[in-house]
Amino acid sequence: MKKSTRVNHPPSIELAPDNHPLVAPIYQSVKFEFDTLEETERYLRGERPGFYYQRSSNPTTRQLELLLAELQGRDDCLVTASGVGAISQALLALTSQGDHVLCFIESYNPTRYLIRRVLARFGVEHTLLSIEDLAGVERTLASRPTRLVIFESPTNPITRIADIGALTRLARAAGALSVLDNTFAGFHQHGSFDVDVYLHSLTKYASGTGDVMGGAVIARSELIRAMRNDFGVLGGTLDPHAAFLILRGLKTYFVRYRAQCASASAIAQRLAEHAAVARVHYPGLPTHPQHALAAQQMQDFGTIVSFDLRGGAPAARRFADALELFALTASLGATESLAVTSQMMGSRELNADLQRLSGITAGTIRLSIGLEDTDDLLADLERALATTEG
Ligand SMILES: *Cc1c(COP(=O)(O)O)cnc(C)c1O
Repeated sequence: MKKSTRVNHPPSIELAPDNHPLVAPIYQSVKFEFDTLEETERYLRGERPGFYYQRSSNPTTRQLELLLAELQGRDDCLVTASGVGAISQALLALTSQGDHVLCFIESYNPTRYLIRRVLARFGVEHTLLSIEDLAGVERTLASRPTRLVIFESPTNPITRIADIGALTRLARAAGALSVLDNTFAGFHQHGSFDVDVYLHSLTKYASGTGDVMGGAVIARSELIRAMRNDFGVLGGTLDPHAAFLILRGLKTYFVRYRAQCASASAIAQRLAEHAAVARVHYPGLPTHPQHALAAQQMQDFGTIVSFDLRGGAPAARRFADALELFALTASLGATESLAVTSQMMGSRELNADLQRLSGITAGTIRLSIGLEDTDDLLADLERALATTEG
């Protein structure tokens, strides 16, 4: 064998069955082969398990899928290159022309955009309500056949709590699928509800370190099977190296999530006592209008603390510019603490009435609490809040 051939066929290293790596290897290989054409054909006919082409599956991404399904308490999962990839591919795989979708003003902006602008071009209709309007949900589901109800809890940014039990009961009774973007709550929460499809951004709490993007769709195997081929051709596949980084991040998921929640809770309490703050939105605070519902549905109240500054937009500007530890940028669930102002929230596509219903004011700030020392974070916030009162 010439060396130019050899470099393309390096020696293979096989481990003995009793010799195991503690960390699974990254299968950074797009293609997999079988020893014979007959076995290849059997695989292609679905008569044997295996791997063939990464866009369909890969051992490293598959390991992540099985772990996420178990964490969320369902049978199966499909991972994607981003959270929005999971949402768009799930919506495309689950809807057809003429279907009706129920969605909410408080949902993630790209989700609303996908439904209102993209699916609309393919003849999928929608109704947009507030997540607090359960009577409206009941009325809408009674008035027309609905393919799916897609919602979040807690909502972004002002942490409204969806009544998951009521929404899933109404959806089930109407023959609609319930789809919960569970990114804010995390994989360990909301698993006991009768939700058909969970969506997650793996960019947030799963990786935890803000250095990799990914998304997941988690459901019972029959639904995943129905979506799998569409996902393969839509093509938003997660790279195995990204899957490896996310698997690594998940090892510390529970300790990170709980430490960040404890810090978020302390920060929410302190903000609620501050003169410059009109209102704090944190489901763990007894003053949150849906605290009882949140306490019933969640074990941990999350790491997002939002609040409204009394001084409105001018105060928000001074506050944002005075922050030193909190980074002024999008996303959440990272080890660094982050801040977003209403000017950065981009719900401009909502008209004035819908804006008002969304609960976002010109002085709304959303904090994502990281793993820094809580006292250091409080000092940074107090310093920045002091600048808003001048
Ligand atoms: C961030 C986020 C997404 C999108 O995830 P990406 O990984 O950024 O594409 C979807 N839903 C919610 C609730 C999010 O916070």
